[in-house]
Amino acid sequence: MAEEPKAVEFAKRLFTCRCGEADCTMATLVPFREHIAMLVRAITSAGHNGLLKNRPERWDAWQGVFYPLQMAASIEDVDADPSYTDDTFAGFWCEGVWELEAEDRKSASAYVAALTIFNFIWMAYEQTIRLCEFNLFHRDKLPVQARKYFAANEGTLGDMPAISYLYRQAIQCCRQASGLAEDIVAMEQTYSLRGAAAAAELGRIFRNYIVHGSDPVPPDDRANEWGVARFYMVSRMVLVLIQGLVRQRLKTPQQLMPLSAVREEDVEEADRLFGGLHQKPELWRQFPEISEE
Ligand SMILES: [Zn+2]
Repeated sequence: MAEEPKAVEFAKRLFTCRCGEADCTMATLVPFREHIAMLVRAITSAGHNGLLKNRPERWDAWQGVFYPLQMAASIEDVDADPSYTDDTFAGFWCEGVWELEAEDRKSASAYVAALTIFNFIWMAYEQTIRLCEFNLFHRDKLPVQARKYFAANEGTLGDMPAISYLYRQAIQCCRQASGLAEDIVAMEQTYSLRGAAAAAELGRIFRNYIVHGSDPVPPDDRANEWGVARFYMVSRMVLVLIQGLVRQRLKTPQQLMPLSAVREEDVEEADRLFGGLHQKPELWRQFPEISEE
């Protein structure tokens, strides 16, 4: 029997281009886990090189950003067994039940993995907003501050490559849940948001929907595909929003910086790095990687 795919491999499948079109935005993205790893390295490198605006004593606060991201990327697999609480041992003596339980384990594991990864990315997002110190919006909750910031900076720092595409993908996944679909209609009636601002608002709505227990569980098989997909789509979108916020904190955006704290010779303009690291290097690198030969 072929080995079961790992619970986290859903993301790999989700972010794989299946259309083969030359202008497919999905095909421009680096793999999900790699995206998180690049972001962690870039933030650490920017911090070490003194590129991030923070009050002198606050570099440590960026740990609240990269540690949750590190956790999100660290998850290799998840193994959840919903039948643990079942004391009938039905699966022990009935093959039909045993098979159903195996399916349950598979879908529960994928769900737990996606939820956990999303939660870590969301923690990093809120901490990034906190570090941005948007004094103008200090009365608002953090996710609202980010939305207002992106709306006020549309076309400049708030404009991130592929963000509108990710937003469209995420909103399509979110619309499959009736509770969320209603919130999306309300959002569209209240604001006319675009780009990163729209993504920030969708992220906020989705996160509230999850923490208030509105996601239907257990999802049936078909719903589970959408249910898991939206965690990853929204997570991707939020990762790019984090990059957009870090760009806002760069002291000298044009300064060359190493891609990671240990790859000192491999440099790029700071603003380009945070603007593009979710996409394949040939799309944004100005200084191609120095060959090791
Ligand atoms: Zn494609």
